[in-house]
Amino acid sequence: MMGSQKKYPGLIVVISSPSGAGKTTICHKLIKKHKDFAFSVSATTRPPRKKERDGVDYHFLSDARFDGLLRKNHFAEWADVFGYRYGTLKSEITAALKNDMVLLCDVDIQGGMSIKKRFRDAISIFIIPPSLTELKKRLFTRRTESPRQKKLRLETALKELQYWRRYDYVVLNDNLKAAVNEVDMIIAAGRKKSNRLESGRYWSRAQMRLLGLRGT
Ligand code: ADP
Ligand code: 5GP
Repeated sequence: MMGSQKKYPGLIVVISSPSGAGKTTICHKLIKKHKDFAFSVSATTRPPRKKERDGVDYHFLSDARFDGLLRKNHFAEWADVFGYRYGTLKSEITAALKNDMVLLCDVDIQGGMSIKKRFRDAISIFIIPPSLTELKKRLFTRRTESPRQKKLRLETALKELQYWRRYDYVVLNDNLKAAVNEVDMIIAAGRKKSNRLESGRYWSRAQMRLLGLRGT
């Protein structure tokens, strides 16, 4: 086909859920599947888990280094979560948007709300587990937290679940493959929203004529 569309504009996607519902797993599956999807690598003061890699899963920082970034205004948002600090770096967002990437921001509800406020074009997805029993099972079989952290995360889960209405979309993560597909479809639709496609960068000359768009 002649004159196909060049590229869709980048998109910030906020993904939140109670701890253990599966948001990180879903994000990683999507990154594997799409070359133009990126994971927003947050900074955190939490210690790394066994399989986590610095600079890949998180930038693992001391309190002092986190403070340094805060002072230099490097964060798009940051929050205290489960006794540690977590923050989305402005540089992650700038780089992704500049390169027309989809940026997956695995953040808590405070972070999700801040990002939505600051970046009006962002879409937000809330992942829910099939049941509390299953959530407990996932949190406990992950074997990454201390008993105290697990208890805190479970207690917080019940509060966090009440925020689902604040998100644009809600996806049930029962069957992982189905959940990944649903998130994928939501993102695909989000990228094609008409109000995001005004720029001539995304169309051929012929398509621009068809759509009545002026050159940029
Ligand atoms: P979160 O990032 O929301 O805290 P994770 O992605 O770390 O959660 O998932 C928690 C645990 O549940 C992991 O061990 C993961 O492999 C598992 N998991 C994720 N999705 C499913 C699913 N649909 N069915 C069964 N186990 C799942
Ligand atoms: P975990 O310790 O399980 O990796 O993450 C704990 C919580 O912190 C999760 O809800 C996760 O989404 C959230 N989180 C991770 N990175 C950020 C961030 O940059 N900002 C905010 N606000 N929350 C984050």
